[in-house]
Amino acid sequence: MPVRPARWVPAVLAAALVLPLLGAPAGATSYDAGLSAPREDSYYPDHGDPGVDTLHYALDLTWQRASRTLSGVADIRLRATTGAPSFQLDLGRALHVSEVTVDGERATTSHDGDVLRIDSPVVADRRYDVRVVYRGTPRPTPAPTTRGDFQSIGMAVTADGQLRTMQEPYGAFTWYPVNDHPSDKALYDVRVTAPRGWVGVSNGRLVSQRRTSKQTTTRFHLEHPAASYLVTLAVGPFAHRTATGPHGLPLSYWLPRGEVAHYLKALRHLPDDLRWLEARLGRYPFESAGVVVVPGASAMETQTLVTFGRQTWGRPIEARETMVHELAHQWWGDTVTPSDWRDLWMNEGMAMYLEARWSSEHTDITWRDWVQAFRGSNSFSREEQGGPGAYDPEMFATDCVYFCTALMYETLRKKVGDRDFWRIVRQWPQRTPDTNVTRAGFERYAERVTGDELTSFLDRWLNRKSWPMATAPDWPPRS
Ligand SMILES: [Zn+2]
Repeated sequence: MPVRPARWVPAVLAAALVLPLLGAPAGATSYDAGLSAPREDSYYPDHGDPGVDTLHYALDLTWQRASRTLSGVADIRLRATTGAPSFQLDLGRALHVSEVTVDGERATTSHDGDVLRIDSPVVADRRYDVRVVYRGTPRPTPAPTTRGDFQSIGMAVTADGQLRTMQEPYGAFTWYPVNDHPSDKALYDVRVTAPRGWVGVSNGRLVSQRRTSKQTTTRFHLEHPAASYLVTLAVGPFAHRTATGPHGLPLSYWLPRGEVAHYLKALRHLPDDLRWLEARLGRYPFESAGVVVVPGASAMETQTLVTFGRQTWGRPIEARETMVHELAHQWWGDTVTPSDWRDLWMNEGMAMYLEARWSSEHTDITWRDWVQAFRGSNSFSREEQGGPGAYDPEMFATDCVYFCTALMYETLRKKVGDRDFWRIVRQWPQRTPDTNVTRAGFERYAERVTGDELTSFLDRWLNRKSWPMATAPDWPPRS
């Protein structure tokens, strides 16, 4: 997710876990790549259940625009992490469940609030096939933030009946049954049927598209496991365009019909911007890249397919900046994902840092301007929001997580030198792809690369509400 420079910014700126193989059956449908070590979130413990490790979701969704009804059949392969008489998934209260089976046997359920409890005993480390049949009009849920560009999260139905979703830190549960926590990555196959003239879009590769006189059905396959906040679904009047990125990477653009030329103007640079990122981060980690442009006022780094709100698009250069931010997340956030929302700083700070580096090379905003902006944020947002590694849970993804952390990364660069700093930037997402990571793991890794003790440095920058540097915040930045 991007954040725009705030009021204090100069006018020029206004512009891992290694998991054992748990007795998996051989064959293509074991979905071992979806194995995770789910945990309870320290910030938002009401979402997700560490007793469940989902491996694969096969979602078959139909959107009826006239009645505003989403009908879904979710086939979920999951592993119980502990023995229990029942287990649970997150599912929005606006969706009505008509049938649940576990390994083909009908199960009794209770649906209290946004939690679906399934009364079927489970044994630790055994795998189960769960089917949930449901329908209803999705309703978003309040966002735990004071940000202006999103007050609610999850699936939204627009006035003309389109669907789009922004679901960080949670909200996938507003449109499908899910273990809605980033520590539980899973594989996805999504089939979506949209009314005539419209099309449904999700992450990964487009496998097929079939049109009849009444509807269009599309199927998508995601090759690498994703956290639920990185899954997207959009239904609307999209035109599809394709392009080719570095080393033949397939690019997929789903754009509002009738405005294709406008959006392609900024997107024509996307292959170059991916090359710029690959020069710093190594090879792009997934099977495809692209964007779906939806009604909305924010942007999200949804895996392989960025979800971009059209109100956020702005001028082409600003759209490129934001796109670079979301693409940087494909490394920092998507292939390696924090296990706990407390560690949001790790990926937002780096996406911000790389966005600013790109901006300083491609626009009239200098690196000095950016560093000054980061220092400005540190001088006021820390006290209000908390340090970026100890932020107020009611202020999710506000300025400090981005700007305070970006200044921390810049200070780390000066402290350890360019060679070690850029080695960390490049290698951290590559050494354990498709996993979850922690602050302790990052500290150990950065200390190993640099040979320095960094715990006290990171504690000072991430935990403190007060200015973390020896020099005053209003000092002119060194370049
Ligand atoms: Zn972001």
